[in-house]
Amino acid sequence: MSFSSATVVDTLALSPRVRRVVLQIDDPEALAVKSGGDSAVGVYFSAPQGEGRNYSVRYHEGDRITLDVVLHARGLATTWARGARPGDRVGLDHARSWYRPEPSTHWQLLVADLSGLPATARIIEELPEGVPATAIVEVADQDDLDYLPRRESVTVIACVGTGNGMAPSRLAAAVRDFTVPAGRGYCWFAGEAAESRAVRKYLRGMGWAIDQMDVTGYWRFDSETWDAKYALVAEEVEAVWVDAMREGRGERAADEAFDEALERAGL
Ligand SMILES: Cc1cc2nc3c(=O)[nH]c(=O)nc-3n(C[C@H](O)[C@H](O)[C@H](O)COP(=O)(O)OP(=O)(O)OC[C@H]3O[C@@H](n4cnc5c(N)ncnc54)[C@H](O)[C@@H]3O)c2cc1C
Repeated sequence: MSFSSATVVDTLALSPRVRRVVLQIDDPEALAVKSGGDSAVGVYFSAPQGEGRNYSVRYHEGDRITLDVVLHARGLATTWARGARPGDRVGLDHARSWYRPEPSTHWQLLVADLSGLPATARIIEELPEGVPATAIVEVADQDDLDYLPRRESVTVIACVGTGNGMAPSRLAAAVRDFTVPAGRGYCWFAGEAAESRAVRKYLRGMGWAIDQMDVTGYWRFDSETWDAKYALVAEEVEAVWVDAMREGRGERAADEAFDEALERAGL
């Protein structure tokens, strides 16, 4: 645990769909924000016991972090971001990051919907010179693509108007359509959880090692129904993750085992 309270110091409507919130952290040392491109924190709206949601750290300067929150139809974080004002207080916890391409990687595949766009933008910005990457991004509107920094070494493939809770996602299909370049690849994914499972299974089926990917479900379609079903099997499936970690299989393999246990449970 790495808890700190924080204060909203600035907000900005980046677009009709995205609200930027800048937070000043009370105790940056305790929170220990990670440095990876997909660095994220849990934001708790009635700290510290209240419900929380995860957000990527788009910028981190000293004791300030910038979050870019996508506003969807409903939700605790959506409501909070819409109404956030300077002076509002939140709790921050669970500072983490996943993006870890192996040094032997020749090219990268970044795959995200709107929820993963802030992390994708930061990963692109921080890509070392000359590292070729393709970003497959699923956005609501062509204008959403302006959010991404342009780099010569990065090709953007856009799926416009699908996914993002508005229509079925095309992300897994777009990954299947992608012509894999020569050399060792690395895939980073951030989007809807069912698509993340489909992408991981596809790449594993293509012979990719678990160390070649960090594939994370950032949200779930109809999470209310899913949460109710999950509550019935939580103990059993969480034990699968704990056992995998205890066996020393590593976090990526434990996450994969956990997802397989969810699928067996019909989730
Ligand atoms: C590591 C990590 C980093 C993340 N970074 C960001 C980020 O930088 N910006 C960002 O906007 N999101 C990000 N997310 C996703 C965000 O945490 C979820 O979308 C979260 O569920 C939103 O909370 P809410 O309270 O608004 O909606 P909830 O109360 O969780 O859900 C309410 C309803 O909205 C639906 N819903 C939830 N999220 C979405 C969505 N993204 N699109 C469409 N429908 C949705 C649910 O299925 C549910 O029906 C990240 C998630 C993770 C795990």
